[in-house]
Amino acid sequence: MDVAKKIVLVVLDGGGDRPTVGKKTPLMAASRPFLDHMATEGILGIMDVIAPGTPPGSDTAHLSLLGYAPEEAYTGRGPFEAAGVGINVRPGDIAFRGNFATVKDGMVVDRRAGRISDTRQLAEAIRTRVHLDCEFIFKESVGHRAALVLRGEELSPMIRSTDPLHAGEPIVSSTPLKDDDSSTRTARIVNEFTRQVHLILKDLPINRERERHGQLPANMVLLRGAGAVPHLVPFEQRTGLKAAVIAATALVIGIGKLTGMQYFPTKGATGHINSNIEGKVDNVNKALKDHDFILLNIKGADEAGHDGNFDVKSKFLSHVDRVLSKLDIDDSIITVITADHSTPVSLKEHSGDPVPFLIRGKGVRTDQTNEFNEFYAAQGGMHRIRGLDMMPVLMDLLGLRKKFGA
Ligand code: ZN
Ligand code: ZN
Repeated sequence: MDVAKKIVLVVLDGGGDRPTVGKKTPLMAASRPFLDHMATEGILGIMDVIAPGTPPGSDTAHLSLLGYAPEEAYTGRGPFEAAGVGINVRPGDIAFRGNFATVKDGMVVDRRAGRISDTRQLAEAIRTRVHLDCEFIFKESVGHRAALVLRGEELSPMIRSTDPLHAGEPIVSSTPLKDDDSSTRTARIVNEFTRQVHLILKDLPINRERERHGQLPANMVLLRGAGAVPHLVPFEQRTGLKAAVIAATALVIGIGKLTGMQYFPTKGATGHINSNIEGKVDNVNKALKDHDFILLNIKGADEAGHDGNFDVKSKFLSHVDRVLSKLDIDDSIITVITADHSTPVSLKEHSGDPVPFLIRGKGVRTDQTNEFNEFYAAQGGMHRIRGLDMMPVLMDLLGLRKKFGA
């Protein structure tokens, strides 16, 4: 069969936008020689990653793009985040995202503990000195971030998180959201975690030191995003494709890991606009040697969107165009360029606007579009699809879809 053999799926996180400056989107204003060349050779369309008008989270969006219905696969952000920071989670574990924070008299002063950067000693103190009524795993991540996993019988994700989400508000006392023993027990364990963490962290020398230097002490860990780790059928088992994930954010790395993909870490990949995306593209080229499917997530555009910065977003996308031109791809590789959602600079938040996508490679029909942006994508030959349609389309291009009927 003369078909393409591999797939590279490039997700420009938050890459979609609305027309603002000069009636253009950041992608329309960006310089895109490479992406426009790909658009000329390939086919374009727009995609409702979840459903029309539904603003996707990065997690549910990536699950959709990989062919996992988020209504079934998504149980909260915690499990993916915990897997992403390197905790070997198991189905049934209760996982949370955590923030090192500063509290005073039960009130949250700063949810990021003065943007603390090194929390290794604090995390080690939590690991060795906190004692809970069940097994737990705590791991620090980048910056002020961390993850907590509770493991054992009689645990439930149906509890209120302790993070009030805004400074100036009291730490939330966890309560069960369901009237059963396991939820009551889990809420009690979480409150006990909160109590012990504060007692241990507040007197640690590293925090005393921070206070002496006028910095905020990291004397609390706030929890949110509780979820039971789902059992996901491995991507390779579903598709027959040996898959790799290349990303900077714990969330996307975690989705890759929980679906059984091999994670290729990239030095200097920060998830910010200064990220080492050259290194990520090098990793894609490396991974292509013995993998059939590569998920590459590039994060910066989402951040610029949340900051409401049109120029930064547009310049970053121009930079991405230059770096993607180094992808070692030919006709035998189906290449997809898309976004997981739009993060319009005018909203500083994700929106339900469809995202543009392009598909290029052997067997792909072409259309008349020759630029990659929201405007041209809306005129593309793929018209409008949903996120869950993407994998079947790609699998069919590899000749791996079964005929429906005789
Ligand atoms: Zn995203
Ligand atoms: Zn975002």
